[in-house]
Amino acid sequence: MADPKGFLTTGREVAQSRPVEERVRDFKEVYVPGSLLPIISKQASRCMDCGIPFCHNGCPLGNLIPEWNDYAYREDWQAAGERLHATNNFPEFTGRLCPAPCESACVLGINQPAVTIKNVEVSIIDKAWETGNVLPQAPERLSGKTVAVIGSGPAGLAAAQQLTRAGHTVAVYERADRVGGLLRYGIPEFKMEKRHINRRIEQMRAEGTKFRTGVEIGRDLPADALRRRYDAVVVAAGATTARDLPVPGRELNGIHQAMEYLPLSNKVQEGDYVTPPITAEGKHVVVIGGGDTGADCVGTAHRQGAASVTQLEIMPRPGEERNPGQPWPTFPMLYKVTSAHEEGGERVYSVSTTHFEGDEEGNVQWLHLAEVEFKDGKLEQKPGTERKIPAQLVTLAMGFTGTDQENGLVSQFGLELDARGNIARDDHYETNVPGVFVAGDAGRGQSLIVWAIAEGRSAARGVDRFLTGASSLHAPIRPTDRSLTV
Ligand SMILES: Cc1cc2nc3c(=O)[nH]c(=O)nc-3n(C[C@H](O)[C@H](O)[C@H](O)COP(=O)(O)OP(=O)(O)OC[C@H]3O[C@@H](n4cnc5c(N)ncnc54)[C@H](O)[C@@H]3O)c2cc1C
Ligand code: SF4
Repeated sequence: MADPKGFLTTGREVAQSRPVEERVRDFKEVYVPGSLLPIISKQASRCMDCGIPFCHNGCPLGNLIPEWNDYAYREDWQAAGERLHATNNFPEFTGRLCPAPCESACVLGINQPAVTIKNVEVSIIDKAWETGNVLPQAPERLSGKTVAVIGSGPAGLAAAQQLTRAGHTVAVYERADRVGGLLRYGIPEFKMEKRHINRRIEQMRAEGTKFRTGVEIGRDLPADALRRRYDAVVVAAGATTARDLPVPGRELNGIHQAMEYLPLSNKVQEGDYVTPPITAEGKHVVVIGGGDTGADCVGTAHRQGAASVTQLEIMPRPGEERNPGQPWPTFPMLYKVTSAHEEGGERVYSVSTTHFEGDEEGNVQWLHLAEVEFKDGKLEQKPGTERKIPAQLVTLAMGFTGTDQENGLVSQFGLELDARGNIARDDHYETNVPGVFVAGDAGRGQSLIVWAIAEGRSAARGVDRFLTGASSLHAPIRPTDRSLTV
């Protein structure tokens, strides 16, 4: 155990953010570089090494949190890094981007602010990279078996790394021009700089994983060609079909899906464009959807110099405290102030868009909305509350409905879908087609990076077992697991 009295003597302290006026002028990560390390062992000392560590159950990866908290407290960074990697291929992604369901489940959180688990995680992994302790782990022997992974998001990368290390020859197929899935094209640089993906890809290449970008399975390469070429396939294609808003005026110029808007900003940071083809500069921006994707649009619009940013949410404003229906240790729906919200803009709750109005050239200028309320369990418009707000750029961030079916991936493999429209799988992550597995958002529906990594690891175990008859790979979860978390 770290310090038996740590939780009594030390309060919770988190990473320092750069001042708003400084950080909105660039796309670098919002945190002050190096601000965590001086405080992190004290923070880790708050961990009580609980007899029943609920943080384990809160984390889909089953991260060995009290163990690495103890090593971080003792500043044994090497041992801490080994424990971290025992359950998580990419702690630098989760340490920056995870909503930390482990912290919602932390026992200390019952009557005190929880342990800063996520900050400890990112400090350990950043230190490991800095000190050259993240090395390629090439397999000692090759199995002679081949695996194709479709999609290079966190699920595909985790599955590929696990299977390569188990000795299989793995190729990752990605339709985009760069590897990383939503980590690369979606999540803004200010939440996670892409250099973190690049160095992991270098590590994976050195271990033997091959990457084939610009190849869309189903369109550029048919499913049966892949099946003939590989002994097993992992579909980790994400849930990239976005929900639309079919109201009058939707066809006007300037109304875009969030995932048409955000990747262009990522591409500016990659050096592909000087200015993004869709920009918020000088415009009144309205973001429809109050979740994380919406927040990413808000932060991006501020950095592009928007005249104003308004985020609309159809549901009522969540509370700031747990409600009785979401007690500890569940992951509660709370009012969140993300770094993007600290930077400005207005959030409007309980409103629904009725239509858009444009100018003579067909460009959107106004968004008409009305307030809504729950009546008999249904959301209804409140009469007399209609109004319009200026809107010269509108981004739709209303969630995703499932994996892309237009490219033929699902139909060519003959994959069955579950009741929610995701690719169905059994407890070993195998689909109805023998030898074809599924991991991440493609099977689970739109979710989180931590779940994608956990599913990638678990599917890798299923594949390894299919190819060799047994597997010693760590598999944190089964598809049916919902646990206490999001
Ligand atoms: C804007 C945004 C912000 C988010 N922010 C967070 C966050 O802060 N924290 C968090 O935990 N989660 C966040 N999420 C959710 C998280 O990114 C996803 O849950 C996660 O990336 C899913 O991983 P995945 O590997 O299953 O799929 P993805 O990351 O979607 O990757 C799937 C990949 O498959 C490729 N692909 C699809 N079809 C084919 C094909 N036929 N052939 C070849 N390649 C194909 C796609 O191009 C894509 O690269 C965010 C999501 C969005 C949209
Ligand atoms: S629940 Fe919290 S205090 Fe207990 S072991 Fe986990 S991190 Fe430490």
